[in-house]
Amino acid sequence: MVIDPFGRAISYVRISVTDRCDFRCVYCMAEDMTFLPKADLLTLEELDRLATAFVDLGVRKIRLTGGEPLVRRNVMWLLGQLGRHVASGALDEQTLTTNGSQLERFAGDLVRAGVRRVNVSLDTLDRDRFAAITRWGRFDKVMAGIEAAKSAGLSVKINAVALKGVNEDELDRMVAWCGAEGFDLTLIETMPLGDIDGDRTEQYLPLSVVRARLAERWSLTDIPFRTGGPARYVRVEETGGRLGFITPLTHNFCESCNRVRVTCTGTMYMCLGQEDAADLRGPLRASESDEPVKDAIRAGIARKPKGHDFVIDRRHNRPAVGRHMSVTGG
Ligand code: SAM
Repeated sequence: MVIDPFGRAISYVRISVTDRCDFRCVYCMAEDMTFLPKADLLTLEELDRLATAFVDLGVRKIRLTGGEPLVRRNVMWLLGQLGRHVASGALDEQTLTTNGSQLERFAGDLVRAGVRRVNVSLDTLDRDRFAAITRWGRFDKVMAGIEAAKSAGLSVKINAVALKGVNEDELDRMVAWCGAEGFDLTLIETMPLGDIDGDRTEQYLPLSVVRARLAERWSLTDIPFRTGGPARYVRVEETGGRLGFITPLTHNFCESCNRVRVTCTGTMYMCLGQEDAADLRGPLRASESDEPVKDAIRAGIARKPKGHDFVIDRRHNRPAVGRHMSVTGG
């Protein structure tokens, strides 16, 4: 396994397979986004080679993300290919983060490709709010997708970004709904990534506040459960469900960061909240051998920074980095 300068073993890679998305969530993207020319993207074969190089270097978990991973043409081919690493035991898991819009169509294929769990991003259970948050999303399609994933046997985790004045009054209902459906729920603090049309200071809701409010209604017990990601979990005793908190602002968890992220053009970011990056596309294309790209991965990880320093307040009303989450991959 590759170890970074702070002694953290890199066992997890998130790969963005496209920067495009069929939604325009208000906290994630501006409505009028410019996307990368398709020629800049790694081909699916190159993504497979790259992912396999990471597996050779000891990565145990791969998450495909984006943009919306399921809108990348033929992405199921890639998932099918990566499934061989799960089947051989080289990978513990391949999974994906999706907005759910294409799940109805792909749930069965995902299971056949060896995917066992999916994270579905859903910030509200209210149809009108859903339309306002996602701008372009269709609520019924997403709900049908979630149902299809469940029926196909996928375990579903719902990810919701907690937004002040937008869904804060609904988080309680989401805990109840996820508990009843058998879904884990993870709440996420909004992060200052990329320019958006609105004002992040107005949207930011610390999860310390949310947790205290939820604890008035639910019995929350800390549990040591981990999925390899940054969430800290509690059990909701009344439902038996798990509730995770991802708190990049109120509690920086960088000391246990085990991840790097690769964009769809093959740029590896060693930290979501820092600019430094390593180009993997050049070495991938320069040689049929995978050694040059593995060297580039090792060299990038050798520069992995200690952590991010996100701040959202009136005096820091600029993104920490210019890249949107849809570029680096969520
Ligand atoms: N399209 C997929 C989806 O919707 O899950 C994958 C990509 S999306 C960028 C991944 C996750 O990032 C989503 O859960 C989204 O809510 C979250 N996200 C986007 N921008 C964010 C921000 N500024 N702060 C916190 N989370 C953000």
